[in-house]
This record gives sequence, C-alpha cells and structure tokens, in this order.
Amino acid sequence: MDFIENGRRRLPITRVVLAKHAGFCFGVRRAVETAERSAPAITLGPIIHNPQVVASLAEIGVRSADSPDEIPVGSRVVIRSHGIGRAAYDTLKARDCEIVDATCPFVQRIHDMAREASQAGTPLIVIGERDHPEVQGILGWSDAPAWAVLSEADILALPPLDCARVVAQTTMVQERFETLCAMLAQRIERLDVRATICTATRDRQQEVAELAGQADVMIVIGGKQSSNSRKLYRLATEFCRRTYFIETAAELDGISVSPSDTVGITAGASTPDCIIKEVVARMNDIEKKVNHRLQV
Ligand code: SF4
Repeated sequence: MDFIENGRRRLPITRVVLAKHAGFCFGVRRAVETAERSAPAITLGPIIHNPQVVASLAEIGVRSADSPDEIPVGSRVVIRSHGIGRAAYDTLKARDCEIVDATCPFVQRIHDMAREASQAGTPLIVIGERDHPEVQGILGWSDAPAWAVLSEADILALPPLDCARVVAQTTMVQERFETLCAMLAQRIERLDVRATICTATRDRQQEVAELAGQADVMIVIGGKQSSNSRKLYRLATEFCRRTYFIETAAELDGISVSPSDTVGITAGASTPDCIIKEVVARMNDIEKKVNHRLQV
C-alpha cells in the first residue's frame, strides 16, 4: 500500500520478511525433542546454544554436564546433535550410563567417514573450528593423525602429508571450504575430499545472502554462543550494513527502523520457534506504529 506524505506518494512502509529457513534445523529439533522425551536426563554439554531452551529443559529435569567424568554412574545421558568422540562413549559405557543418542545423522555420517579413514591409516583433516564440539567429536573417531584447520596458517602448520581425507564441519560456509581445499591441494598430492556441509546450513546461508542483499535492516536471531548463528550474522553483514544480532525480542528496542525500510529476519539453527514468532510480532508492531505515524 502507498502512503501520501506532504502531498507526495511514499514508498510502501516498512516490510518485514522472514527467511523460509529460519530456526531449528532437522537435527536440532530432533535432539531437543529427544531430550524432552528422555527427562529426567543429563545432556553432555547444553543440548543447543540457546539459554531459553536450556532453562526450560532444566525445569523438566534435563540438566547438562560438561564432561562424561562428571556424570553420575547409571545416569540417562542424551547425546546432542553435535555428537561425541569414541572416548566419550567409552567413558559413558564404563559408567553404566543409559545412552540416548541424538547425534544428527548428518554428523554421524562424518563420524563414519573419519572411522573408515582411520582404519585405512589415512590422516584426517577437518575444515572447521578446532574447539567446536562437533569438530572435537569428529576428530575423536580417528586413530590416525587428525587435524582441524580453519586458515591458511593452520594449513601451513601441517606436517608434510602424501594423502589425507578432508571433511567439513557441517556449518562451514561453502566458499571458505572450497578456498581451504584448494590450499590443501597445493600441499597434499592425494586428497579425498568429502562434501559434508549440511544442506540445511547451505540453504540457510544462501537465503541469508539473498535476503540481506535486498534488506535495509537485517536481524539475525540466535544464541550468542551459537556458532552457526554467528556465521549467519557475519554473512549478513557482508550484504547489509545495518545487520543486528539479537538473542531475544527484548533487544529490538535498541534498533531503529525507518519508513520504507525492508527488514529481513533470519535465525540460527538453535533458535526456537517461539522466539522467532515474538521477534516477528514485535517487528510487525513497530511497522504498524510507523504506518500510523505517517497516516496521522
Ligand atoms: S545443521 Fe545440519 S548437520 Fe547440523 S544438526 Fe542441523 S541438520 Fe544436522
């Protein structure tokens, strides 16, 4: 709808566009629902990087522990979507724990690739964040030499290798993965590169780039500790200068929106639907107020 201001026709007022792939991915939804069904239980690390979800799980008796050694003997333990390495499984079994495995099947597939390479004695290179639990879990399935790399410096620090299997953390940005693979190919003669970036991640990243390219204001919703949400934020800032990273709708108060702004909203894979709905509702309220101001 157009509006007339000072006798002139204005552009449509603030438009709020929610990305189609915002919020929980398949693996995270499955892990959260598994944890809910398994209460009372202990998760190895927070089930997702979202304090609101972790708090609501705590209310029904699902708490988290940082290491398998902290878990009382005989506990029911839910493995989150990031998965864990073999040593952690062994510790849990030795402690007679009941293991409820919610490792995402896409991550499980990478564990299988790591184990298979290990059995053949092939070194493993994971392109991803060394300290991220998913990467730690993948490295934990290789008995052969294994490294995580995320930069040219990491690649230059690798010892001389004739061959290596290469996998990616599921949330890697595709272009970065390809750049790092090209660098590895210059140093290692036989590279066995496996495509392991999750399609849910890829779709989400492509969509955020398109949306941020058209938006005046971009809002990325996600836990501050969530690696995939931070990546979405960084990607959005490349296309939209006014990009904001928020955890809850309360943080919208500090964001100013002008008439004629298009506001794009996306959310990381660990952001629950209720928070996304609240942010969209608050943005629509702001839109109504802007429209009302222009009409009076
Ligand atoms: S981002 Fe992909 S791999 Fe990771 S949990 Fe979600 S569906 Fe699984």
